[in-house]
Amino acid sequence: MFFGLGVLRGLMVTLKNFVTSYFMPPDRGGLFTVEYPEKRLPVIERFRNFPFLVYDKDPENPRCVACEICANECPTKCIYIEKDTDPNKKPLRRPAIFDIDITVCMNCGICEEVCPFDSIYMDHPFEVASSDRLEKLLFHKNDLLKSNDYFHKIRPTHAAAIDARRRAVEEKKKSAAVKPSETGQPPKAQNGGKP
Ligand code: SF4
Ligand code: SF4
Repeated sequence: MFFGLGVLRGLMVTLKNFVTSYFMPPDRGGLFTVEYPEKRLPVIERFRNFPFLVYDKDPENPRCVACEICANECPTKCIYIEKDTDPNKKPLRRPAIFDIDITVCMNCGICEEVCPFDSIYMDHPFEVASSDRLEKLLFHKNDLLKSNDYFHKIRPTHAAAIDARRRAVEEKKKSAAVKPSETGQPPKAQNGGKP
């Protein structure tokens, strides 16, 4: 065998790949390196970066009821919540403070998994680097609150499934709340039927 033929063959493969990379699409051997940041690959729906809070219509009344389940379950303890109160200092079912230290968050999505109120989901933006840790990387409630329309925009399948489930629960509640007289049934005795 001619000495060095293998080397020549290898060089031919390199040459072929070098030339085709400039003229062929990525799926046929062309350049597959995305020239970021000029170009970006679309982010898949289930991509998760940092969490955000969902509100339906009014950001002053988010879905979050400040139950703190997410904060307790967060493995890095990077969520800090304080309940809002009324003028008489009675606690309200909404957060006054909801902070997430995204320098500590490890993008695990556990907060999303455990939230019983469909309030917290993982967001898509990933270009959040900053040297100003306290001003830019500690997300406050107003940074975290995003509309349900936004949720639909980034995760249409997931958001639609959540909406459908929430609607079904509302319908169930409404039908359970229909008075017995409206259903034609006799009202239940309040004292267990005793005289
Ligand atoms: S985001 Fe969900 S789990 Fe966390 S405090 Fe709000 S309602 Fe509770
Ligand atoms: S994604 Fe994980 S680490 Fe980040 S806030 Fe949620 S539970 Fe905590």
